Amino acid sequence: MLSFRRRLALAHVVVVTAVLAIAATLTYLSLVASLRQQLDGALLVLAEQEASMLAANPDLPVTVHEAPSAVSASASASGTGTGTAPPPSYARLDRLVQIIDRDGQVLARSANLGASTLPSDAALLARLADGEAVFENLAYGDEPTRRVSVPVRGGRALAVQVAGSLDDVDHNIDAAGWIFGAMGVVLVVVLTVTGTLMTGRVFGAIDDVTRQAQRIGDRTLSDRLPHPGPHDEMGRLIDTLNDMLARLEQAFEAQRRFTADASHELRSPLSRLRTELEITLRRPREPAEYVDALRSSLDEVVRLTTLAEELLTLARLDSGQESATAASVAIAPLLEEVVRRARPAATRRDVDLQLDTLATADPAASEDADGEPVPAASAGRPIAAHLPRQLLVLVATNLVDNAVKFAPAGGTVRVSLGTREGWSAIVVEDDGPGIPEEERPRLFERFYRGAGARASEVPGTGLGLALCDAIVRAAGGRIDIDDSPLGGGRFSVLLPAPR
Ligand code: ADP
Repeated sequence: MLSFRRRLALAHVVVVTAVLAIAATLTYLSLVASLRQQLDGALLVLAEQEASMLAANPDLPVTVHEAPSAVSASASASGTGTGTAPPPSYARLDRLVQIIDRDGQVLARSANLGASTLPSDAALLARLADGEAVFENLAYGDEPTRRVSVPVRGGRALAVQVAGSLDDVDHNIDAAGWIFGAMGVVLVVVLTVTGTLMTGRVFGAIDDVTRQAQRIGDRTLSDRLPHPGPHDEMGRLIDTLNDMLARLEQAFEAQRRFTADASHELRSPLSRLRTELEITLRRPREPAEYVDALRSSLDEVVRLTTLAEELLTLARLDSGQESATAASVAIAPLLEEVVRRARPAATRRDVDLQLDTLATADPAASEDADGEPVPAASAGRPIAAHLPRQLLVLVATNLVDNAVKFAPAGGTVRVSLGTREGWSAIVVEDDGPGIPEEERPRLFERFYRGAGARASEVPGTGLGLALCDAIVRAAGGRIDIDDSPLGGGRFSVLLPAPR
């Protein structure tokens, strides 16, 4: 199989050769036709001059007018052709002229014919008798000859025959053939060489890019292809490949960090669990101590299970196995359930957990001047979202658990539901420390924990918000973070409302 480069070069040569061959052949043929027409035209003019002189002077003896002659009224009247001095002309010098009667008898001929005559066959005589002017090629002597025979109009049954050599015409045609042929060969060679050089440059550059790209592996993803300089097609290709490499590098890096963080997060509770069990088993203990140890181990196992489930859900969302779209689900009852489950933890910390579920999505009453969701008329449709129920529960639980976790002891957490700019909006806010402006862009990164969270005793893995963000984005929504009027952070989950 030929390489693409060779196939392109071959196609180029074939097309150039074909186009040049067609153009040269057409030009050559039209040149041949035009040269032949010129000769025929010259022979015909001479023959018709002679014939019209014979027709105009029926009484004069039949002679060939050797001297150049103008068909003028005065010349015709005198019958000698000397009435008005005609302009000088070479027209007759290399032409053979003879006058024949209807039987082919030669009655007169030009001196350059010498003793010989031009042959006339019966077919020619018949066509002349029909009044036709006849062109033909003759083999007269050694020279290819062209002849025209013209019948004389009027009473005289004569015909004028004028013959000229085809030598000059053939010579010109041969010369033209050689010139076209040579030009064609030179053009094909020049175009082939320049075409091959140009495609060679382009493909050489592509080969360079391929070689350099081959050198970049998963460990050298930070390498970039060298830019050729100009922002032409090649430059844009390199830019595109380099942008792609940058995205791949980022994705690889995120994946690497994720795997490292995930194994670290799994290892810590596992080693805590192991230590706890080893210490407990070191010596016999009271039943109450075993119960304590088992309870604490159970806590670790629950944490591990949650973490494993979160990781699994994230992996499924990443690979597209977990679909984030589903039939419409009413949000209010779901929030009630989430809040009910979070209430024991809130009560333990003396946090006032409030829930304002707005029963319906009424487009007429969506939000107030501050963009706060406002209650809708109770008679409308329930506020809903297209999201699998368990995923929506996961999002709400994470946000409510966080708010309860970060609210100060004796603080307040408010969960509300409404519509905003045509979206279904779940808002979770608290009067905790809030989220510093510079941390907000990073909150959705996997395993990211804010400085406050890391410094305090607040437990967590840094996966919750990443999971919420992945779920909400897969459903076509977004999570906004800002300050709550309560004093802490405010998380607004905006989901496309079912139509
Ligand atoms: P985790 O809560 O396990 O640390 P998340 O992904 O749920 O992980 O949260 C990431 C970080 O976002 C937290 O470590 C914390 O710094 C910040 N954060 C989340 N919710 C709140 C909140 N209600 N108030 C203040 N900071 C919060």
